[in-house]
Amino acid sequence: MKVEFFRHSLGKDEEQSLIDTLRGVFLTSGPVTREFEKVFGEYLDCRHVIGTYSCTTALFLCLKALGIGAGDEVITTPMTFIATANAILEAGAHPVFVDVERSTGNLDVQQLSGALTERTKAIIPVHLYGHMCDMRRLSDVARARGLYLIEDAAHCVEGARDGVRPGQLSDAACFSFYATKNLTAGEGGAVATNHPELAERLFILRSHGMDKAAADRYTSAYRHWDMPLLGYKANMFDLQAALLLPQIGKIADKLKERTRIRRRYDEAFSDNPLLGLPQTLDGTAHAGHLYTVWAPAGKRDAFLAGLNREGIGVAVNYRPVHLMHYYRKQFGFGPGMYPVAEEIGERTVSLPFYPGLKDEEVEAVIAAVQRTLSVL
Ligand SMILES: *Cc1c(COP(=O)(O)O)cnc(C)c1O
Repeated sequence: MKVEFFRHSLGKDEEQSLIDTLRGVFLTSGPVTREFEKVFGEYLDCRHVIGTYSCTTALFLCLKALGIGAGDEVITTPMTFIATANAILEAGAHPVFVDVERSTGNLDVQQLSGALTERTKAIIPVHLYGHMCDMRRLSDVARARGLYLIEDAAHCVEGARDGVRPGQLSDAACFSFYATKNLTAGEGGAVATNHPELAERLFILRSHGMDKAAADRYTSAYRHWDMPLLGYKANMFDLQAALLLPQIGKIADKLKERTRIRRRYDEAFSDNPLLGLPQTLDGTAHAGHLYTVWAPAGKRDAFLAGLNREGIGVAVNYRPVHLMHYYRKQFGFGPGMYPVAEEIGERTVSLPFYPGLKDEEVEAVIAAVQRTLSVL
């Protein structure tokens, strides 16, 4: 049986919403984007949401809005998608990596102090696979040191830890609506923040630095606009928002479906001595973005190839950022610098995991994993 790595579950509601928007006046940032920002903010219990073209631009705009750039250091994890670290480079700042916890693959707060210098300006933790970082401890460190805290919450729309949700203990949380994310418009992103001044700057920065968004100029009588800041072209547009809006009301149901699949995988794999599994720590409500297993050391690529031969779609999340060619060449990073991230990077495999995955597909994945492991 062939099982896709990912299939989106957009359907009739999203089609209708898109058609309604197409039949309206706006295609770019307009009333649907504003409605999405309002509804997503209510979902997150966060005061301001700024829709962006992507999570990468959301992270970049946050750094810019907080005045972070050349000469500044920003701390993040090497166990993430390259976009997290690339956003730091795009802003002109210097990326500093801190190794991750073995249990979750998240930035290890205990190792943070060793990476802080007088040039450190911000920390960007990533809630890997949907397991939230320890935001209470991170925000304690950030507050004590006067650092900004920007969450890469691309995996963590639904997550919480110790009663804290994304955006609540940080300056801002950035989300992705890329094709394979839990909420998707193919491409898209957002920043959530409780800080009104930061929100205001982000609204201006995402639209060229104009002091009035194009939508506002249209709906009210004509007014001249000015450009107080150098901004960027990074706005979410109404066709993206039209696809996203109907999904927000279904978040809880979709999470339930993914949780059921996660439990079944856990039950099938947790006793297998050949596989490692990331843990879910006490007090954590897992957002369930990716389901990953850790293959036997040295055998991950054979495991991947075996699963592919069985027709199972797989992915690797992630090979660590510091070992990417560009980062090695530009910053002198190399193997051995972040050993836990490197070990996870050499062993990790993501399995098909999404609402709409049928029971027989889940069982086919489990059987293929077991067969493949037995002949490695
Ligand atoms: C997907 C992803 C991003 C980038 O999201 P885009 O919307 O594609 O820019 C950033 N960080 C993480 C952890 C991601 O998984």
